[in-house]
Amino acid sequence: MSDAIEGKPFPAITDQTRPFWSGAAAGRLMMQKCSACGTVNFYPKPWCIECGSRSLAWVEVRPSGTVYSHTVAYSVAMNYPAWQAELPLVMCLIDLDDGARMYAQLTDCSPDDVRIGMRVDAYFASIGEGAGIPKFRPAKASEASGT
Ligand SMILES: [Zn+2]
Repeated sequence: MSDAIEGKPFPAITDQTRPFWSGAAAGRLMMQKCSACGTVNFYPKPWCIECGSRSLAWVEVRPSGTVYSHTVAYSVAMNYPAWQAELPLVMCLIDLDDGARMYAQLTDCSPDDVRIGMRVDAYFASIGEGAGIPKFRPAKASEASGT
């Protein structure tokens, strides 16, 4: 696949995490939701992070959220060349509108412009082998309040 992440490590995909990666390849943000208490898990686990139930179902969640926190990487561990080319890299903790807090890369946003509380939308990049990865960029201002 031409847009595969040449030069970057491929994630270790297991039966437990596969729906997340294959969902992203299909343009869908997939999370585990607890059938007992409704909590949305990130990252995938065998049990609910809130109540410990093992009754989890994969659901599609809205690909939108708010930046909870962020950091900027100016160097890459092990100097993977493909990452090197993307520096500086903005990484965020994002509170999804449907409940989970996930970490992801924020693109299309200068490190000077990222803010806690900013609205972001997910998009999906193919990483090959039937897998994709969600990344985020600043939300369009169409829903912004005020004038
Ligand atoms: Zn639960």
